[in-house]
Amino acid sequence: MRRIERIFVHCTAGSQKATVKEVLAEFRRKGWQNPGYHYLITADGSCHRLLGEEHASNGVKGYNSTSINIAYTGGVDERLRSTDNRTDAQKAGLLQLLKELRGRYPKAVIMGHRDISPDKNKNGIIDPWERIKECPCFDAKDEYKNI
Ligand SMILES: [Zn+2]
Repeated sequence: MRRIERIFVHCTAGSQKATVKEVLAEFRRKGWQNPGYHYLITADGSCHRLLGEEHASNGVKGYNSTSINIAYTGGVDERLRSTDNRTDAQKAGLLQLLKELRGRYPKAVIMGHRDISPDKNKNGIIDPWERIKECPCFDAKDEYKNI
């Protein structure tokens, strides 16, 4: 059993209409042995398992052995600028999945990928300029704080 400390929420930073096949092909293209996420929520809200939770996925460098990574397809507009374009179905799918994960990992911290950025000025919050990236393009910590 892995000890899960964090559940990271991601966006694919690609087309919202991307299929599971396309997302997996992207990981292979990058030469990754394991997928970037355990679960992927596609635009229609369905949840696809990409990897068993007993294995480490390739989501956040340095944290993978103690993390579960989940993602929604999207997170960028047509000009590849960061945007929260989750469909209502995706929002519902993410919520459902996180509730299930919370049941299995009661102590894990649910956070967005960007929330792991270093707090450079040590003010206790990750300011926008400190973010290593925008992923998942919304405030996951706040949105899921009551799960
Ligand atoms: Zn990410």
